Amino acid sequence: MRTFLIAGNWKMNKTAEEARAFFAEFNALAPAKTKCEALICPTFTALSAAKEANKGRISLGAQNVYPKDSGAFTGEISPKMLSEFVTYVIVGHSERRTLLKESNAFINEKIHALLSHQLKPILCVGESLEERKAGRAFDVIAEELTEGLAAISKEQMAAITIAYEPIWAIGTGETATPAIAQEVHAFIRNWLVKHFDKSVADGVRILYGGSLKASNAHDLLSQPDIDGGLIGGASLEAKSFVDIIQIADELL
Ligand code: PEP
Repeated sequence: MRTFLIAGNWKMNKTAEEARAFFAEFNALAPAKTKCEALICPTFTALSAAKEANKGRISLGAQNVYPKDSGAFTGEISPKMLSEFVTYVIVGHSERRTLLKESNAFINEKIHALLSHQLKPILCVGESLEERKAGRAFDVIAEELTEGLAAISKEQMAAITIAYEPIWAIGTGETATPAIAQEVHAFIRNWLVKHFDKSVADGVRILYGGSLKASNAHDLLSQPDIDGGLIGGASLEAKSFVDIIQIADELL
């Protein structure tokens, strides 16, 4: 059975010192052992402090990567550099797709680069409000999956997590209803069956992201095709993140 992955995305928040304070509180509040897997993705500058302060309690991830090993790429961070700190890396977050105009082809390059360094990509997909209203949500997601996962083998899919993040629900306080989220997650699962096979589809974790918090976590995580969450705002405070972990644990 798939276990939940409860992943916090801190976005551009928290200094190294603030990360230390978060983990001091988290380590005091969180149960010593959890059934679900918990993950925090701090900013690059807080990774070292997070690694030290976290004391191996939960997994660490990064929020982005540049798909080259080294060289003349001023300001960028390579998979090899990240592999000193993290196991997971978020790619294709809608904020990067929108603000930084990242294309599916570029995101695909990042996924290949991460896999070649044994890092686990979390591929974000999701539609805007206009695309949903125009009835194009499934087309947009299918295109993001097809192009984002181009030339990825069945074996490589074992290391990949997909996050469905409807853009209209990110940081807006508006959450997809459990029924809407489940419908899209089932669509993604079927897409994986068609493009890989059933055993690949059954093994891939599909996270929901978009204003997930303790008050809606139970209803969302109870859906059969929701295997965890990618959580922005509610991961910034140790208490609310621990509450979500405990809700997930009770469902397992
Ligand atoms: C996110 O950061 O990917 C996210 C879903 O943010 P929020 O939970 O704040 O909507």
